[in-house]
Amino acid sequence: MTEALLAALIDRTAATIAAEAEALTGLDQAIGDGDHGLNLRRGFEAIAAERARLSAMAPADALHQAGMLLVMKVGGASGPLYGSLLMGMAKAAKAGGDLPAQLAEGVAQVQKRGKSDAGAKTMLDVLIPVLATLQTQAGRPRPELIRAIRQTADDAREATKPMLATRGRASFLGERSIGHYDPGATSSQLLIHAVCDVLAEQP
Ligand code: ADP
Ligand code: MG
Repeated sequence: MTEALLAALIDRTAATIAAEAEALTGLDQAIGDGDHGLNLRRGFEAIAAERARLSAMAPADALHQAGMLLVMKVGGASGPLYGSLLMGMAKAAKAGGDLPAQLAEGVAQVQKRGKSDAGAKTMLDVLIPVLATLQTQAGRPRPELIRAIRQTADDAREATKPMLATRGRASFLGERSIGHYDPGATSSQLLIHAVCDVLAEQP
């Protein structure tokens, strides 16, 4: 991965979170404590502030450092969870794993940290299906793979609406969590789109 690609990934993810922070916070007001967008904006601003240093690193090191920044800067559950995702990906990258292997390790670390799995109405309800698409369709031409990943993320986020939350703050609401999109599933969908945007532009 080139320095320019790393910088583009930082720019696009940070811009997405900045643009969507209010909407994410709105979703968290409905079934949480109304800080998800603010939390992530703080984290991605911290990553963007380190853009030059991070993009000059080996990808595995940049992923690890970005994950550490999220753990340190983001209050709330999502910081350590997204931090675990990036640090898990870093670990697999360091061991020579390809992108599906990296995302698999990242998702495994989120599951471990969150003591959670698919179906609990969390970010994992987007991350796990996206991982499955990446694993099963990795051999397809890049434009088709990117389209499949975007579609999976959209469908998976949509599927969180009727779910009953059994993890995180939304679980305190019980049945009242039904009928709302999960904030973390939505930020995952948005971040996946941001990464797809950058990868689609690669020559
Ligand atoms: P907090 O809930 O501490 O206020 P955020 O609002 O930033 O943190 O993030 C909330 C999101 O974090 C939820 O919408 C959900 O997607 C995700 N989340 C919360 N708990 C867990 C968990 N145990 N496992 C996976 N994801 C979780
Ligand atoms: Mg919150």
